[in-house]
Amino acid sequence: MKGPEVRAILERHGVRGLHHANSVKTSCSLLEIGGLASRQIVEQRGLPQSVQYTDALDQQLGVWGDIFLDTVDIHSRISNINLYGPVLFTFDLDFLDDLDEETRVLITRSNPTRWKTTTSHEDRYFADADRLDEGFSAGDFNQMLVIRTPTKVIKFSDKLDRIVLDYPSLNKDAEEIFDKAQHALVRSLGKSLVGTDVIRRHCRINCKCGATYEASSARTQYFEV
Ligand SMILES: [Zn+2]
Repeated sequence: MKGPEVRAILERHGVRGLHHANSVKTSCSLLEIGGLASRQIVEQRGLPQSVQYTDALDQQLGVWGDIFLDTVDIHSRISNINLYGPVLFTFDLDFLDDLDEETRVLITRSNPTRWKTTTSHEDRYFADADRLDEGFSAGDFNQMLVIRTPTKVIKFSDKLDRIVLDYPSLNKDAEEIFDKAQHALVRSLGKSLVGTDVIRRHCRINCKCGATYEASSARTQYFEV
């Protein structure tokens, strides 16, 4: 499917924006590239990139060169951390209108972490616009956007709405962890001349992210620069 076609369906289902979560380190690399890039491109350009729990599987499944976006802010939806990292890039739906001719947008029917190498294309993705319209469920974060573009990079240009950074509130060094991460992101933003802000996430009162970050040093490592 092409971007504008997908946009129309998402809009009809009440989706207002697109989101991409990542670690601070990888996000700085994306800002230096000046766009959302597949993990393959970040690696090929020799830029820093955090290890993700899905890396090996992504390579086996043939999606290492794809760009993934969510139609919901998962952190806000589940009141807990996003496993891909504390940085959230948010985009307006216009993002889908300006993709170039050869770029294809696919929507997953189930979470790729549950796929096997033998999972067929039909089982992985909605086949066409009609089936997407019928099967799409707003808020279901197993239904992810997969963007397949020849360059494997989508420039931010003016489509990046804002960057939201988590605050690991229960950590005794929360302020220092947050400030360092924010400074690194702002520095990379300056290099790429992308005009947007890095703002602190404001969670719901019952959000469990602080406790999760506190319980897992592997998760706070995603703030490392
Ligand atoms: Zn939270």
